[in-house]
Amino acid sequence: MNGYGGHILRVNLTTGKITKSPTPADLARDYMGGRGFGAYFLYKEVPKGADPLGPDNKLIVSSGPLSGLMIPGAGKCDFACKSPLTGGYASASLGGLFTAEIKYAGLDSIILEGASDKPVYLFIDDNRIELRDASTLWGKGAITLETELKEKLGDEFQIACIGPAAENGVLYAHINHDFGRQAGRGGVGTVMGAKKIKAIAIRGTQSVPVADMAAYRKAGMALYKACKDSDGLKPWQTYGTTMVVSWCDEIGALPTRNFSAGSFEQGKTLYGPVIREQIVINDKGCFGCPSPCGKYSRLSRYGTRVEGPEYETIGMVGSNLGIADAEDVAQINFLCDEWGIDTISAGGAIAWAMECYEKGILTQADTDGLELKFGNVQAVFTLIEKIAKREGLGALLADGTKRAAQKTGKGSERFAIQVKGMEQSAYATHNATAMLLSYMTADVGAHHNRSWAITYDLQVGREKVSDDKVARVIWLQHVRPAFDMMGACRLQWVELSVDLEMYPPALEAITGIKRTWKDLELVSERVWNLTRMFWARENENFGRNWDMPSPRFYTDAPTSGTTAGKITKLEDVNKLLDMYYEQRGWSSNGLPKPETLNRLGLSELGA
Ligand code: SF4
Repeated sequence: MNGYGGHILRVNLTTGKITKSPTPADLARDYMGGRGFGAYFLYKEVPKGADPLGPDNKLIVSSGPLSGLMIPGAGKCDFACKSPLTGGYASASLGGLFTAEIKYAGLDSIILEGASDKPVYLFIDDNRIELRDASTLWGKGAITLETELKEKLGDEFQIACIGPAAENGVLYAHINHDFGRQAGRGGVGTVMGAKKIKAIAIRGTQSVPVADMAAYRKAGMALYKACKDSDGLKPWQTYGTTMVVSWCDEIGALPTRNFSAGSFEQGKTLYGPVIREQIVINDKGCFGCPSPCGKYSRLSRYGTRVEGPEYETIGMVGSNLGIADAEDVAQINFLCDEWGIDTISAGGAIAWAMECYEKGILTQADTDGLELKFGNVQAVFTLIEKIAKREGLGALLADGTKRAAQKTGKGSERFAIQVKGMEQSAYATHNATAMLLSYMTADVGAHHNRSWAITYDLQVGREKVSDDKVARVIWLQHVRPAFDMMGACRLQWVELSVDLEMYPPALEAITGIKRTWKDLELVSERVWNLTRMFWARENENFGRNWDMPSPRFYTDAPTSGTTAGKITKLEDVNKLLDMYYEQRGWSSNGLPKPETLNRLGLSELGA
C-alpha cells in the first residue's frame, strides 16, 4: 500500500507470540495513521474498564504515511494507551529518528499487549523480531541505557526506552529516544514499564512504496524550499522553542510559582539568547528536518549534557518553581530525562507541593525535612529522585497532582493546576480564553499541542468569549492533530509559515489518495470524537465537569505582571463550554450526539 510500511506488528508479552498482519486499506483511508491508528486500536481492542497498568491495556506505536519520507520533519510517531495518570486516552508524539525505522522495517503500528513476567526488550531488525532478556538493563537510567544499547547493537538501531521511574510506576513516566526526545505525556512510559519492556530497538532497510515518484519529488522539494526561504528559519533554528520564553513573560503567559502569576521577575535569565550563549553547544533535529529546533547543552557546573531545555521545561521547572538559573533548569531537565519522567507533570506536581508548603498545608514532617520553598533548586533535585523511586513525599507526587491533592485535602485541590488529571503545560491562561478552552477540551488532559490558540487570543482580544474563538480552537484541534496522523511535524507550518496547502499534494503523491484539507479535518474530527467516547466509556459520570479548568484561572487573579488583576469569570468559562459543545454537535453534558457519531461513521464501532 503506497505510503505505508504495510504491516501491523503484534507482540504479546504474556505468551511471547509475535505476529504480523497486512495494514487494512480501509483503516488507512478512515484513520490515516499515527494518532488515528492509535485511537482506533485503543477503542476497538482495549476492553472497557481495563486496568491501565494491567495486561489488558495496550501500548500502540504508530507511524503515518509521511513518516520516513523526504518531507520536512516527517519523523513523528504516536504512542497511545489508556492513561494511568488520567484514566482516559493517552497519546504522546515522539520525534527523532525512531519512526523512519518503523516504516523501513515494513511496519505501520507496533501493538504491545499482555505483560511479561520478566524484563525484556523488543529487538526488530527488519523481519527478524525477538523478545530479548533485559534483566541486566532493568534499573538503568534512560539516557545511560540508550548509550549502552547503541554501543551493543550498533548506531543504526534506533532506541525507545524507559528509565527507573517507569519501572517504579510513576504515573507520568515517559519514553526516551535519541538522548532527550520523549513521548512525554500521560504515562505512556509507565504502561511500557508495567509490561516490563525496557526498550524497543529497531532497524529497517526496506523501501516505502510511493504512488507517484515525480510528483513526490516535486512536492517534497517545494516544501523544503519553502522552509529554506522562510524568514522564520534563522531565529527558529538559533533559539528553537526558547525564543517563546521572553514573549510569554511579556504577555503574562509564563507560568510562575504554580501559575499564580504569568510573568517572572527574574525571568530574563531564562530567555532564549541567554540560554544559547550560556549552555547550548549544538543544534539537533528530527528525521528529515530542515529547521532543527532541538538544542544540545553542556552544563559545566554539573558535568552533564542534555537535549534542551525546551520552552515547556523552562516554564514548568524554571519559572513555575521560582528557579531563574539556566544551568539549574537544564540540570533538572537532565535528571528528569535520566530517571524517565515528564518534565511538565513533574514541574506541575512539585509546584503544587511548593505552594502547599508555603501555605502551611504541607510541613517538613510531610516533605522528609525538605525546605520546599519556591526557588530551592537543591530540594527539587532531591525530590525528582524521590519521585522516581516513590520515596516519602515522592510517592505522593508520583501519582500526579490531582491524586496528591485529593489525598492531602485541606483545600489543596485549588492549587492543583490540571484538567482531567493531567498537569497543565506551560501557558498561564488567567484571561486568555481561547487557550484556556484549548486546555479544558484537549483530548488527553491539559496539554497545549492540540490547540495552541494563545496567539489568536492576542489577535482578537484575550478576554473575548465568542463563537469565532471557539471555532478557531476546534479548527486547530483538527489541523494540528492531522499532522500527528500524517506522521510529520507541524512546526514548519506554525513557526516558518509554510503554507498548509502544500501538504495535501505531497500526501497524494505518496499515497495515491487525493485529499483536501477538508478531508483531513474530517478524519481528525472522527478521531477527536472517538477519543471522547473512549473517555466516556472508561469513566463513570464522564461529562462537563471533567472539562473544568483549575479554579485558579477563574478565582485567583495574579497580583503582579502583565495580567495582574485578570481572570476569566466562571460565567464565561461555562459560556465557552456551551458554545464548544454546540459547535461540535455534543450534548450540553459534552457527549457526542448520535447524529454526530453517525455523520462521522463511528456508530459502527459501537461508539
Ligand atoms: Fe523536530 Fe523541531 Fe524539526 Fe519539528 S522543527 S521536526 S520538532 S527538530
